[in-house]
Amino acid sequence: LRILGIETSCDETAAAVVTRLEDGSAVIEADVVLSQLDEHSAYGGVVPEIAARAHVDALDTLIEEALARAGITLADVDAIAATAGPGLIGGLLVGLMTGKAIARATGKPLYAINHLEGHALTARLTDGVAFPYLMLLVSGGHTQLVLVRGVGDYERWGTTIDDALGEAFDKTAKLLGLPYPGGPAVERAAASGDPKRFAFPRPLVGEARLDFSFSGLKTAVRQAAESIAPITDQDVADICASFQRAIARTLMDRIGRGLARFRETYPDATNPALVVAGGVAANKAVRMTLDDLCAGYGFQFLAPPHHLCTDNAVMIAWAGLERMALDMPPDELTVQPRSRWPLDADAKALLAYGK
Ligand code: ATP
Ligand code: MG
Ligand code: FE
Repeated sequence: LRILGIETSCDETAAAVVTRLEDGSAVIEADVVLSQLDEHSAYGGVVPEIAARAHVDALDTLIEEALARAGITLADVDAIAATAGPGLIGGLLVGLMTGKAIARATGKPLYAINHLEGHALTARLTDGVAFPYLMLLVSGGHTQLVLVRGVGDYERWGTTIDDALGEAFDKTAKLLGLPYPGGPAVERAAASGDPKRFAFPRPLVGEARLDFSFSGLKTAVRQAAESIAPITDQDVADICASFQRAIARTLMDRIGRGLARFRETYPDATNPALVVAGGVAANKAVRMTLDDLCAGYGFQFLAPPHHLCTDNAVMIAWAGLERMALDMPPDELTVQPRSRWPLDADAKALLAYGK
């Protein structure tokens, strides 16, 4: 089975060609991603209208490039998979309509994929992880702990009640005068800082529910920065290091509870796994924290390679292939994109009604 994947939900335009072999393994034949970082960095965040126009400009060429790299034409794919949500509606429209047009012109089936499902299933492509497992998605737009029971079968155990974790990194960087995107800049600064200088809050730590909250942390960072004048590079480094420490401690508590709940839910699981996805997974402090935590709870810790953790079309293609392999029906060409689309809601029912 071979599929063309299309991803346009945020600020990456991406196309991929992926083949699934009989044994369930995958061959990535093409993986093309065009980041719009430069177009948005002047604004310190993603500007939806600019993103949508950039997708329009780039998508056709990117699809052609993906096909060329795979050495095939559209006649050689069995289906098309395109992200239908959640995300910025302008970008979703561009990608999904392109997918529909290709499906209509070639007569091939179209799979409208939930972007979060793409992130959730990536570790099956890279590591062949078996259901059920836990997935932590930490990106600029999402912070979710999800129980992955099967293809199309998800239960959200925790989510952020305010800012996403990547957003907390980006906002912290912004108010410290560090460049966008904030995550890598904060991590770099933190390397030479004192993580114990500031006692930043660890929101929701100790609570039984598995949700996250990061906006209080951001406020504490602002108060710390404003209390020092003039602020030196060393002060900034200390704030960043203390910020990362607060996040590590928060994750330890929140995810630790999640792992314990997984154990309670599946007492017979022999090789439980935690999978991490999203751009924040690149952060070494975050990775080390999760790695240690998993070791302590007897969980396997899986972090797909960085380019498959951030937004890409390989994961969208793979989610389509998983559906095809299970003979799940493709979508009607009347399918509508959804800017909001929770992973654990009845996807088909929601799509049928649009909006
Ligand atoms: P989504 O719609 O899936 O949320 P996104 O574009 O917001 O997409 P990603 O591309 O997966 O998310 O990740 C970008 C986020 O990851 C940004 O918030 C960025 O600051 C953060 N990030 C990247 N590298 C690091 C790092 N080394 N440490 C911490 N955060 C990082
Ligand atoms: Mg992105
Ligand atoms: Fe994403």
